[in-house]
Amino acid sequence: MMEPDYENRIVSPDYIPEVDATENVLRPKTFSEYIGQEKVKQNLKIYIEAAKNRREALDHVLLYGPPGLGKTTLAGIIANEMNVNIRLTSGPAIEKQGDLAALLTNLTEGDVLFIDEIHRIPRTVEEVLYTAMEDNALDIIIGKGPSARSIRLDLPKFTLVGATTRAGQLTAPLRDRFGVIFRLEMYTPEELRIIINQSAGKLGVRIDLDGADELARRSRGTPRIANRLLRRARDFAEVMGDGIITRETAKIALDRMEIDELGLDAIDRKLLDTMIRNYNGGPVGLDTIAAAIGEEAVTIEDVYEPYLMQLGFLGRTPRGRVVTPAGYEHLGYPADRDDEAPEQMKLQ
Ligand code: ADP
Repeated sequence: MMEPDYENRIVSPDYIPEVDATENVLRPKTFSEYIGQEKVKQNLKIYIEAAKNRREALDHVLLYGPPGLGKTTLAGIIANEMNVNIRLTSGPAIEKQGDLAALLTNLTEGDVLFIDEIHRIPRTVEEVLYTAMEDNALDIIIGKGPSARSIRLDLPKFTLVGATTRAGQLTAPLRDRFGVIFRLEMYTPEELRIIINQSAGKLGVRIDLDGADELARRSRGTPRIANRLLRRARDFAEVMGDGIITRETAKIALDRMEIDELGLDAIDRKLLDTMIRNYNGGPVGLDTIAAAIGEEAVTIEDVYEPYLMQLGFLGRTPRGRVVTPAGYEHLGYPADRDDEAPEQMKLQ
């Protein structure tokens, strides 16, 4: 069997530079283009209006949820609605206290600083961030040894928008400094259909309702994947059909990409299949699964599991992960695994 291509996985929710180059064109700039996440939008609009009325910077906002759900986009909309600039950076890019100091001192009053993967900033940098968030000040140490002294620099008032895949990965002191915490949810097929139509309009792609519906149902609840499937389906429609994405062309495209009716690809199926065949469906530990399919445990946890759990194909127990009867069924195994397990499923 061919080794799965983890890096360039079509249904990966992570940003893939070569594939997602048009992402900025498609990125909504206003709340009205930002589909779904209704509760988050409603509350944010109120906080933004209140802050604007008081002529203050918006409180610090933490956004969490799986990749590709619109955290960066939302940060941009916040800046846009507040009429301020946004600076984008990420946790791993801020290696030293000086890196953060440079970012903060370059902000102007009211600006938004977006830090993606904020759980990955080094601890020493995080401590500097505390006073910046709380007191709009920067404590820096000048000199070394006995003559070292600390001076305090005032900073412009700013809004930190932090994004993370899991809020649990954040330290408590950092989490406590966010006034607003939102969890982004996976999108319904109906919401994704609207997003696909909106993106098709921007890209000049022709697609009918059924075509959009077919792509939406296989997009794993994730706008980034929906946009990617749209672009791929367009290639198929242009080369093999009359350029219009219909249900038919969408199906052909997705079958060619080995993405099934629920949006699972070869790697998802390999994960479930390995658990069923080698571990009798679990419970099996995350590290064991990781070693068996040759992928990192954190990637499985952040990238593969959320959607499989959302579908109800995978469950978490204190003793490890289990494949649910629905998961067995989707892979074509009888759901009643103990009585009617096919030969190849049983452990020797
Ligand atoms: P994240 O930062 O959570 O990884 P992004 O904000 O980069 O995700 O979103 C990825 C892409 O998905 C964006 O370029 C945008 O086109 C699309 N997108 C995300 N959320 C929405 C939404 N609510 N409505 C329309 N498009 C969206």
